[in-house]
Amino acid sequence: MANEGSASAAPVIETVEELLAHSKVLEEEAAERYEEIADAMEVHNNQEVAGLFRKLQEYALKHAAEVKERARGLTLPRISPWDFKWQNGSSPEGASMVDTHYLMTSYQALRLAHRAEMGAHDFYAAVAAHAKDAKVREIAAEFAEEEAGHVSMLEDWMRKHPKPEEGWDEDPDPPAMSE
Ligand code: ZN
Repeated sequence: MANEGSASAAPVIETVEELLAHSKVLEEEAAERYEEIADAMEVHNNQEVAGLFRKLQEYALKHAAEVKERARGLTLPRISPWDFKWQNGSSPEGASMVDTHYLMTSYQALRLAHRAEMGAHDFYAAVAAHAKDAKVREIAAEFAEEEAGHVSMLEDWMRKHPKPEEGWDEDPDPPAMSE
């Protein structure tokens, strides 16, 4: 393996085409994961969080559409799954979503999404910091800013859905609160 496993190695992306090819996959995978989470939240009867994830899915799809728009007239490289320059081997917005189907609480779902959006932000920020091509830096910085917006939106939501008490998600019929 050429990959030394250094997770902190900065992604070296030197062309707009290569950046957009990464971005397209990143956003499409994110949209898929968010849809899965929204579905899972609906199964758990959590309409509110399902709605938040439908919104995140929408943002990811919108971002993917923007990427395709920018790629118009360009020939994006076909990149094999193992040749993507993600820092940890899988796309940052999709990577942390494997536990989707075991999600029980809003808090856990939001925390996973937060980690994913942070991963996407960090990927774009690293490209923006290290690319030699000015146009690549400019687009990556713009995308990083967009992801930072998603991160802070999730932080707002997490404040509204604080870490639940043990067993919080097991009771379909919450006890009456004295106020
Ligand atoms: Zn995002």
